[in-house]
Amino acid sequence: MKNPTISNIETKTEEDRILGNIEGDPGGPTVVLLTGLHGNESAGVEAAQNIFDMLVGIRPRIRGQLIILRANLPALKHNVRYVDEDMNRLWVPAIIDQVRHTPEAHIDSNERREMKRLLPILDEIQERSEGPVVLADVHTFSASGNMFSITNSDPRQRNLLSNLYVPMVFGIEKSLQGTVLGYYQKQGFISFGLEGGQHTNELTEYNITASLLLLLHAVGSIEKQYVEKIAEFEQHLKAHTQNLPVETELVYQHIIQPGDGFAMRPGYSNFQPIKKGEWLANDNDGKIIAQTDGYILMPLYQKQGNDGFFIIKENEG
Ligand SMILES: [Zn+2]
Repeated sequence: MKNPTISNIETKTEEDRILGNIEGDPGGPTVVLLTGLHGNESAGVEAAQNIFDMLVGIRPRIRGQLIILRANLPALKHNVRYVDEDMNRLWVPAIIDQVRHTPEAHIDSNERREMKRLLPILDEIQERSEGPVVLADVHTFSASGNMFSITNSDPRQRNLLSNLYVPMVFGIEKSLQGTVLGYYQKQGFISFGLEGGQHTNELTEYNITASLLLLLHAVGSIEKQYVEKIAEFEQHLKAHTQNLPVETELVYQHIIQPGDGFAMRPGYSNFQPIKKGEWLANDNDGKIIAQTDGYILMPLYQKQGNDGFFIIKENEG
């Protein structure tokens, strides 16, 4: 029997977890745009809505299926990263099993309840899809600076993402435990994180929209229907990222311990070059100094979050 959560109705409501579901011609990929895993990152939700609005009525139809999901509805409602715990650190088999087997009324954590509601939708996508499943987990960040993708260096993902003109960062998916993208990579999905820009920057929504449309083109969901838009977005992203490294690798991750008083020094942005020995941040133990040259990534300028910053290097391999 079909899960009633996924209908063939092309519709969207603010309150719905499934913002949109377009069933196109058979034989194409299934593309999942997962948004709002962090509730203060609504630009990704808006961008995914733009994509839905663009593609819902087009003829010829898209190939395959496009499903747009919002993950953490209470956090989105309150514009906070999370209510009880980070929903993007829970995707490990032990927690997933426990969430599946615990009645919702007995789950204390908002994020685990949201996970319990999201899981059947993703399960059904996995069961029903005949072709490849591509999951784009859409995020934004607190610092200023350029967008990037978080992916493994598997050639299948690498080749696909090279069509987006968004710098790729390898290795973060291994260093962060319990991410959605890491979990669904193991489930056989092509699965990556799209970090679309600063939370409230006016370009962020546009950049995410652009890269998601290029993704849909690259996987073969859309072909000629959007030639002009594709060319415009491609040109925009190429120009936007032309001075950035195409492929980078994580070399350092600064993990914050609760109560350690971490504070990033002001003025850092994504892909800003840094030198070994540079004073980057402070915590209760004193100065935090860069242990290596590289580029800084995701310096934390918000209260919620466990990672102070990352350092990446251009991939030479
Ligand atoms: Zn996020």
